[in-house]
Amino acid sequence: MVNVTLITGDGIGPEIAEAARRCIDATGAGIRWETAEAGTDVMARLGTPLPDATVESIKKNGVALKAPITTPIGTGFRSINVYLRQSLDLYACLRPCKSYQGVRSKYQDIDLVLVRENTEDLYAGIEYAKGQDDTRELIDWLNKHSKKKIGADAGVSIKPISVTATERIVRFAFDYAKKNGRKKVTSVHKANIMKFSDGLWLEVSRQVAQSYPEIEFEDRIVDNMCMQLVQKPELYDVLVLPNLYGDIVSDLCAGLVGGLGVAPGANIGEKGATFEATHGSAPKYKGLNKVNPTALILSGVLMLRHLGRTSEANRLENAVAEVIAEGKKVTYDLKENRDDPTAVGTSEMADAIIEHL
Ligand code: NAD
Repeated sequence: MVNVTLITGDGIGPEIAEAARRCIDATGAGIRWETAEAGTDVMARLGTPLPDATVESIKKNGVALKAPITTPIGTGFRSINVYLRQSLDLYACLRPCKSYQGVRSKYQDIDLVLVRENTEDLYAGIEYAKGQDDTRELIDWLNKHSKKKIGADAGVSIKPISVTATERIVRFAFDYAKKNGRKKVTSVHKANIMKFSDGLWLEVSRQVAQSYPEIEFEDRIVDNMCMQLVQKPELYDVLVLPNLYGDIVSDLCAGLVGGLGVAPGANIGEKGATFEATHGSAPKYKGLNKVNPTALILSGVLMLRHLGRTSEANRLENAVAEVIAEGKKVTYDLKENRDDPTAVGTSEMADAIIEHL
């Protein structure tokens, strides 16, 4: 048995968490779940959207399956998700984007893996609001030391990119490629414009690539990368990106394979890992037993692989693929017509997946 924290989340979280838990248990992977709360529901009871017990549980178990959580406004948290990633130092965000037959998409046979740096860049949360004393002080200093001038009425967000963080994320991407039989890593940047942040990223990417001669390496400027992914996605394999580009390009790639309902993800660090769907808590569907549980179930597949439960992971992924390919016991979003009355609910789709195991 292995202990895993199950964060049930809020909005559609509890429904899809239950569906994913049942599917994972049905593989016989031997998971002992420790349920923990986060989000608006627990906020109403305990006055915090992220109880210490939840963070402690992930730290203790080292692995969590996490349903989406809404970040309530005005709680002191910019985003609970970002806070969790930073406090547990989950520096790598892994987002496989794979086509499954039966999911409506303009593209077939996509098999991309995005590796996004999770701790730095414009997401570091170092921001200065327009008109504040410290912002004025910063702007005065910058205007004194730079030929370029910043207006007194500007807000400022800082973009740190370090050698240490770049090196570890690029290594993560190459190690992932090696371990999973991938052929190529593409490093994405805007080094032509941001010479000291993205330029550093590119330079470190090139250095790290030299230690992996068996894996092909190339780089792409982010705007060109977006066009290439839309025109020739089959040319790419593993992509490694700084935080902001990673956020944007991973949604683009989710779009290539049919949208958020089927896009799994993982946040991985040295001391722990959380596995979660790319989509959010879709509050308007809360409690309706309507939404697609696939993204969280496929996140469970990534978790099983992380735990070394490879055969259970493969069986679960195949069962999901079969149910989607048959197209009968699937949620509304996987039907040709979204109003199709034969669409099943979240828990019925989970039942169908369990029957295919
Ligand atoms: P969302 O992903 O929750 O919903 C956007 C739309 O996508 C929904 O209206 C729905 O049509 C569709 N959708 C999402 N998941 C689906 C599913 N499983 N099956 C079928 N359709 C699905 O994005 P949002 O509305 O921008 O965000 C809602 C809340 O979720 C926000 O508070 C946001 O901060 C939070 N959020 C959390 C996470 C996370 O916990 N990792 C990630 C993204 C957003």
